[in-house]
Amino acid sequence: MAAEQTSETRLKVYRGSCHCGAYIFDTKLPEAPSVDASECNCSICSRMGAIWKYPLRSEDIKFVKGDLATLTGYSFGNKVITFKFCPKCGISLVAFGYSQLPKEGENREPDFAVNLRAIQQGQGLDIWKMDLGFTDGASLPPAYEPPAYTGPEPKAEVEGGKLYTGSCHCGAVRVAVKTKPLDKTLTALQQGCLWIYPNKEQVEIQGEENLGTYTFGSHAWGKTFCKTCGIPVHNQIQALTDQQLGKLSEDVRNFTLGAAHLKPINIRILNGINTKELNDSRVDGYSKLSTFVEPQP
Ligand SMILES: [Zn+2]
Ligand SMILES: [Zn+2]
Repeated sequence: MAAEQTSETRLKVYRGSCHCGAYIFDTKLPEAPSVDASECNCSICSRMGAIWKYPLRSEDIKFVKGDLATLTGYSFGNKVITFKFCPKCGISLVAFGYSQLPKEGENREPDFAVNLRAIQQGQGLDIWKMDLGFTDGASLPPAYEPPAYTGPEPKAEVEGGKLYTGSCHCGAVRVAVKTKPLDKTLTALQQGCLWIYPNKEQVEIQGEENLGTYTFGSHAWGKTFCKTCGIPVHNQIQALTDQQLGKLSEDVRNFTLGAAHLKPINIRILNGINTKELNDSRVDGYSKLSTFVEPQP
C-alpha cells in the first residue's frame, strides 16, 4: 500500500530560502497537500517552531545560493543530528542526521530534512492548510534539562502576574518574563514563533551578547536569535533616527513609535508551556503587513 502511494505521489520542486536571501535552495517534495510533514514537541523543534519534511536524500536539496557548509550548524546530546540555520537572519533551513546510526564499516549518508516554514510563498504549499502529523520527540531519551535562569527578576509589578523563565536551546541566552498567566486566555500571535508583547520592565535577558539581530523592512523590529543554536528569542525594538522614521509611512511610523516600550518574547522558549493549549491567533502578516519579496538568486 505504502509503495503504491509513493509511486502515485507527484513530486514537485519547491523553492525555499532564509529571510535575508543569503541562502536559497530548491527541494523536490511530494506535491502539496500530500507532503506529509510533522510537528515535533522535542526541546529543539518546539523552540524553533520548525515543521520538518523528512526523510530526504542530500540530492533532494540543491542550494542555488549559499551552501550547506556555510550555514551555522548546531547539534547537542549525542550529536547525531545537525540543525543548520542562516548566520545572518537565523532562519532554520535544513537538518540532517541518523535516526539509526550506521553500523561499523557501513557507509550510509545521513537522512536530510527540510523546514517547510522556509518554503517560499506562492507555490501552493500552505502550512496552515496542511494536515500536519505529530511526533512526540519529547518522550525520547535522553530527557532535556532546560538551562536555569539565574539573573534578576524583572522589575515590573504585574497584578496577578507570574514569573516564567526560559532559554534558547544551548543555554547561551536565558530569559525571565513576568506576565499574566500564559493560559487559554492568552492570545499569542502564531508564526513560526509565538509572540507575546510585554513591556521592557517585564523582561530580563541573560546572555544578550550572544544574540544575533536581524532587521528588515522598516528596520524597527530586530528579530533576535541565539548565535549558537539559532533559536529565536525576542524582538528588539530599534531606536530609529528621525531620518529613518521620516522614510516610513505614517501607519508604520505610528506602529513603530507605539511599540517603543515593548519587549516582545517568543514564548516557545519558555519552560513549562504547552503551546497547543493556548488560544493562539493567526495573523496573515505575509499578505497584510509585509512588503516582503521572496529572495531569488
Ligand atoms: Zn538569511
Ligand atoms: Zn542557544
